[in-house]
Amino acid sequence: MSPQVSNTVVNLPGKSAEELRAFLESLGEKGYRGAQIYHAIYAERKFDFAAMMNLPAALRERLARESAIMLPQIVRRHRSSDGTVRYVLAIGDGQPANIETVFMPEENRQTICISTQAGCAVDCRFCLTATLGLMRNLTAGEIVGEVLVVLDDNRDALKPQTNIVLMGQGEPLLNYDAVMAALRILLDPKGVAIAPRHAALSTSGIIPGIERLAKEKVRPNLAISLNASSNEQRDQIMPINRKYPLEKLLDACRKYPLRPREWLLFEYVLLGGFNDSPEDARRVVRLLANIRAKVNLIPWNPGVLPYERPDRAGVEEFQHILIEKGVPCFIRDSRGQDVMAACGQLALAAMAEETAQSSKTDGFSSW
Ligand code: SF4
Repeated sequence: MSPQVSNTVVNLPGKSAEELRAFLESLGEKGYRGAQIYHAIYAERKFDFAAMMNLPAALRERLARESAIMLPQIVRRHRSSDGTVRYVLAIGDGQPANIETVFMPEENRQTICISTQAGCAVDCRFCLTATLGLMRNLTAGEIVGEVLVVLDDNRDALKPQTNIVLMGQGEPLLNYDAVMAALRILLDPKGVAIAPRHAALSTSGIIPGIERLAKEKVRPNLAISLNASSNEQRDQIMPINRKYPLEKLLDACRKYPLRPREWLLFEYVLLGGFNDSPEDARRVVRLLANIRAKVNLIPWNPGVLPYERPDRAGVEEFQHILIEKGVPCFIRDSRGQDVMAACGQLALAAMAEETAQSSKTDGFSSW
């Protein structure tokens, strides 16, 4: 698992079953060996050709010379008091960068929050990832690699069900092709085998990406980072709203072909005194009319950015107004796993941690 791979060898993670078949055939081998390698890397998490005992010894040796299984490398782990582990991972392949991935254990399952870009260009004002700007897109192999590395690092404690959420660094729909190539492997029953209903992609509202996703045969659940009840408000905290304003975004949501029992999830970061009034709640109800929607309210946890914590009674009133009008609504407090409930919150946790120069912020500790 070297972080760098020479130009003369082919890195295999991120390759589809068809691409692995073609690669093996290009070596003059039988194509079905590609399916064996696909299964070994993604389903069995074997990252060393020597462990692929169903391959002939000569092929294992040749693959070790002419290809590689290069995965992100763990630079640091930070553990929350509730068991959440936030990883800093180094990705290489010519343009080295650090990204963040989070492992959240629960009683019967684990959820992995993954990044899709190093940094982000979308510039949401409540998000510290935005301050990094976009460094680069992740490749499909790096995105799949985040999940493989984190599953492997927790292999002795895994529960039967794995969820993935694309809510880490980056706007997934601005790296569409790599994200979908990764998801096809992650959601493939012969690959990493995560059930599509256990996967969610969060977007700031990139309408062309939403329209493309609507046409995918296999796709994750869709979450929209809403965070405002009017265009005036959203323009201030999410400049992307000027390009894709609320009425057009919600029109795309209304046209999104939901399957039976599927919902659109709307994330709403409550910023005290900015977007958390009862009138905001009533406007959100009107915005979401005729959409099969659930809302996650995420009360802001003050840190280095100039926003206030919302009043608790006001948060509950906001929730009550939505529920009363028939919109399922949940409060996700920003602790441990919940600090990642909206995209961009990973970098927030990291920066808050560094600013405090202690491991206590957000309940994380290094180990
Ligand atoms: S909240 Fe998400 S889309 Fe917005 S800047 Fe942060 S990472 Fe990018």
